[in-house]
Amino acid sequence: MELTMSRQKLKPTRDEASFLIDAAKRIAWYSEDVFCPRCGELLTYTEIGNSFTVACSDEMCISAGCRGI
Ligand SMILES: [Zn+2]
Repeated sequence: MELTMSRQKLKPTRDEASFLIDAAKRIAWYSEDVFCPRCGELLTYTEIGNSFTVACSDEMCISAGCRGI
């Protein structure tokens, strides 16, 4: 699995990235509401082909994606 980071000004730390990847599973599998670890906005989950992106509602805040599930 290859972890890809988007080009936000503030890149997620390793901890934040693993939180987001975990959040993606919770949103995708359990339809949970998961909130941004930075600002508390709802996280959004987007699936594109065999990859996915998890991002804060504030798109300049934080996001992380994963390819090749
Ligand atoms: Zn945020």
